[in-house]
Amino acid sequence: MDNKLLIASHNSGKVEEFRRMLELHNIELLSLRDLGITFEAVECGKTFQENSEIKAKVYGNLSGLVTLADDSGLSVDSLNGDPGVRSARYGGDGLSDEDRVQLLLKNMREIPRSERNARFIAVLTLFVPNDKKAHNKLISIAGTCDGVIADKPVGSNGFGYDPIFYVPSLGKTTAQISSLEKDSISHRGKALKKMRIEVQKLYNNNND
Ligand code: IMP
Repeated sequence: MDNKLLIASHNSGKVEEFRRMLELHNIELLSLRDLGITFEAVECGKTFQENSEIKAKVYGNLSGLVTLADDSGLSVDSLNGDPGVRSARYGGDGLSDEDRVQLLLKNMREIPRSERNARFIAVLTLFVPNDKKAHNKLISIAGTCDGVIADKPVGSNGFGYDPIFYVPSLGKTTAQISSLEKDSISHRGKALKKMRIEVQKLYNNNND
């Protein structure tokens, strides 16, 4: 097996985040852009798990490389899990991150502080295309980060819903902390920490 791993995301920020957190010195990390892949996988799954698997399989089969994909989003208890798998598209196409934050705040304006619990969820999937030792192997790992939806945006770091995602144990929103601090508590950070072990096991076993 090649010592190559494809990070299946068109988002360069996410690719950098994966590179930083995986810290795999013996494995060459490639992005879709590195391979010239512009195709967009259709995220038609009903769960983060399904979408994460779809992306890993689509790009793994396209490239023939071991592929790591993720799907993530925000789940708000009082909205029955919305925006959920539609987090990036909440309110429709053409809205900015700020517009989506304002829409969520509007949809939650009647909801009291005690009922504003929410969590970020990420599911990472590692796909190993047909290989003598591992036949189309799929490994998925989830990570979560609990918080509360604030009543107004605070902070300018991060992206998406970070300015309204308040973490009580920090007394801050995830837009008020550094990316390093966020890596250590975030849904993606927690899942990546576990996935790193799986990736290392896979390459060590295949190179024995
Ligand atoms: P994905 O790229 O399909 O996984 O979409 C994830 C969407 O969920 C993003 O566009 C954000 O709206 C939201 N999201 C996921 N993780 C985070 C985070 O760490 N901070 C803020 N928003 C997030």
